[in-house]
Amino acid sequence: MTRPETARVLGATLLTAGGTATAFHHLWWETGVFWVLALFLAEGVIRQRRARRDRERRARVEAERAELAARGPAPLPVPCCRIWRSSEGAVHGADCTRPPAARTTLRDAEQRILDQLDDDTRDTA
Ligand SMILES: [Zn+2]
Repeated sequence: MTRPETARVLGATLLTAGGTATAFHHLWWETGVFWVLALFLAEGVIRQRRARRDRERRARVEAERAELAARGPAPLPVPCCRIWRSSEGAVHGADCTRPPAARTTLRDAEQRILDQLDDDTRDTA
């Protein structure tokens, strides 16, 4: 909380207390003035705090964007092996860098079952 905000909160608290004290003495007009001024100060504190948080968030987002821009574009993925590249993704070579489980290609029967499952889920969706 900044110093002006603290001052406004203190002022709103004092005005609220003053309004309450005048209400005990049935001084209604003064009570209304104290409480209206207290509400005015409290609204200012809330507005100022919200603006400060928005400025801080905006500065943080701009810093993150500047950091991402400074890194440059993300590198393109490297093909795992030359045979995979020349076969347009159908076959992997012996020098493949992918894990063995990721190299397997589906047989025709497996591919038909997968297509059938895909169609079934599409029909029910
Ligand atoms: Zn490969």
